[in-house]
Parts: sequence; structure tokens; C-alpha cells
Amino acid sequence: MKNKKLGFETRAIHAGQNADPVTGAIMTPVYMSSTYVQSSPGVHKGYEYTRTSNPTRRAYEDCLASLEEGVRGFAFASGCAATTTILHMLSSGDHIIAADDLYGGTVRLFDRVFKQMGIEVSYVKMTDLKLTETAVRKNTKMFWLETPTNPLLQVIDIKKICALAKKVKALSVVDNTFMSPYFQKPLTLGADIVMHSATKYIGGHSDLLGGAIVTSTDALAEKIQFLTNSLGGVCSNMDSFLFLRSLKTLPIRMRAHEANAKKLADFLTAHSKVERVIYPGLKSHPQHKIASQQASGFGGMITIYVKGGLKGAKKILENVKIFQLAESLGGVESLIEHPALMTHLSIPKERREKIGVHDNLVRLSVGIESIEDLIQDLDSALR
Ligand SMILES: *Cc1c(COP(=O)(O)O)cnc(C)c1O
Repeated sequence: MKNKKLGFETRAIHAGQNADPVTGAIMTPVYMSSTYVQSSPGVHKGYEYTRTSNPTRRAYEDCLASLEEGVRGFAFASGCAATTTILHMLSSGDHIIAADDLYGGTVRLFDRVFKQMGIEVSYVKMTDLKLTETAVRKNTKMFWLETPTNPLLQVIDIKKICALAKKVKALSVVDNTFMSPYFQKPLTLGADIVMHSATKYIGGHSDLLGGAIVTSTDALAEKIQFLTNSLGGVCSNMDSFLFLRSLKTLPIRMRAHEANAKKLADFLTAHSKVERVIYPGLKSHPQHKIASQQASGFGGMITIYVKGGLKGAKKILENVKIFQLAESLGGVESLIEHPALMTHLSIPKERREKIGVHDNLVRLSVGIESIEDLIQDLDSALR
């Protein structure tokens, strides 16, 4: 079932899935098989070896592709495995233009793994189209962006950046982890490739590690399929089953994350111990308008600058009771973290400070608990 005309909620539950023709089982079975029997060399039912393709993984991939409105999905063992696979489309001497506050692990891959292999990267404030344009070189082959960015929640105009990429014949890749396909569909805004850390909202329960890629064309799908099969960082059969199950509740989870985040952002804005609240849903957000235009919601992530510097930040982190101090995001439970000391520690302090990841910056992944409890928890920790 791939029909894009059906509603998002319907596709989240049914796309890529049919009752098992042999037993009638309504849920896609976990096909725990590494290889598949052939009736004659090369004659088979579409599967030869699980690194290349597996029926459970394929159902999950087809569901992902349907939700992102792309042509083909691919599932990986982690978001970083998905990133690594995409970066192998490049060759030594190629240049990437990347947004200037990306997930720390992506920056680590760019600067400490792919740089050694001859890939050049420029980090640019992509909310500024002119500045991004001036970063283009003859060898620019890829644009890499997250929006909203991590952790500063800047909103980048996907349409404009992807149009620029197209103009200079470079690929555009959008890391859609923070919004999930429920709120934002970059391929419909001109992106060539969308990727995810499925570990976050797609999995949604902080119990799985995974990554995803969805391509906009068959030609790109062919390249990614070749690289996926060659590099081998695929999602396991069991995890594919669990992710497929998670996708079924993605719409209702995302709505609940957002409803809580909106209320919490208003509460924090009015709080005397908070210096500044960054949430794309607030009218005070510098790119609130673009956020409202390119996405159907604002998501569940909030970033705050607290009063009292590092000491003030630590006080909150150590005193919350429902919010749990942990890296990661996108699970049903609320998490709180300190980017400068945790997720973004691998980024040099100088660059962190330059982009605004200061010591009094705290990031919240708002879960779907009772909002009164979340407000009460942050209020008492702030005091
Ligand atoms: C977590 C994350 C990644 C990396 O994904 P893993 O599943 O941890 O490998 C990439 N991008 C963003 C925005 C993330 O939050």
C-alpha cells in the first residue's frame, strides 16, 4: 500500500504492509533469515541476502518512503550509519556546505573522518541565503542541513537552500530528525535526500537505535541501494519490526509532544529565572514565519538560556525529577540536557561560543506526560 492520496495517519499504519498471505497474520512477520532459497541460480522471490534486502526491513522502508513522500526508503543501524552512507556518494576533493549548528556526531564525521578522506566542509549560517551563496565553490557537491537546527532551533528555509543547490548542481540533504515526516516533508520542498536518526521521534520510546534515508528519485535510490549493500550498516530485522510498530503511533505522539511543548514554551517565557526561550512556535522566534510556512507544526524541542550561567544551568539539571538528565530526544519521556557539556562537547569551545551554544544553554525534549507535572517539575527546579 503506497498510495500517497491516503491520509498520513492511514499510511503510518498501513503503508508497505499487507496481511501475511500464508497465515493471515495482520502484523508483518520478523523474517529472521539471512539468506533466501533460489529455484535456479538468480531466480528468486525478490530476496537473496539480508544485507541487500529483507522483507521486514522492506516493509518499514516502504512505510518511511510513503510518509516522507519519496520514492524509496532505506533503514540503517543508526543515524550515523545513514549519514556515512550518504557521504560515500562524494569523492575526494568534493566540497560540502553544511549548516553551522548541526548534530555533534555529524560534525565529528565531517571533521574527523571524512576530512581525512579529502572531503572539504564549510559551515555556514544557512538562515542567511546570501552568505550561503558566497560559500559555493566549483567543487561544491552537497548541501547538508538540519532544520530546526540542533540545539539552537534556527529554522532554515528548505525551499530556498534546495533551489540554490539545484542551481549549482549539488545534492541537497535534509536531516529531518527534529520534525519527523509528520510535521515536515523536505522532499516536497525540493530536497534530494532526507535522512533521520530514527532513534529519536520515529522510534519514539528511547529503546532503539536506527537511521533512515528517503530519496526523491529512482536514480538516487539506485546509488543509495548500491552503497547500503556495499557498506552494510543496515537496520536489523527485529529492529525493523519495532520501528514499523513505532511508526503507527507517530502522528498521535507528535501531536502530543507539540501540545506540551507549546504550553511549556509559554510558561518558560514568563518565568523570571529564564533569560530567553527558543521555540519555533513562539512569535518571538526570528524565523517563526518560515517555520509556519514550511512545516505543519513546531515540534517538541525547546532550548532555553537560563539566568546564572553554568551554575544556574547545573542547578536545574540536577534538580528536575520528571525530566531526566540524558542525551538524545524524541522519546515519550521528557529529557533535559546541557549541549555544551554533553551532545555538543565534541565541537571545539571556540566554535560553540561563536554560534551561541553557551554554558547557560539547556535543551529540553518535551515528552507526552501530563503537562501540569512537567510545568511543576521545571518550575521547582528553576527556583
Ligand atoms: C541523534 C542524531 C543523529 C545521529 O543519529 P544516531 O541514531 O545517534 O546515530 C543525527 N542527526 C540528528 C539531528 C540527531 O539528533
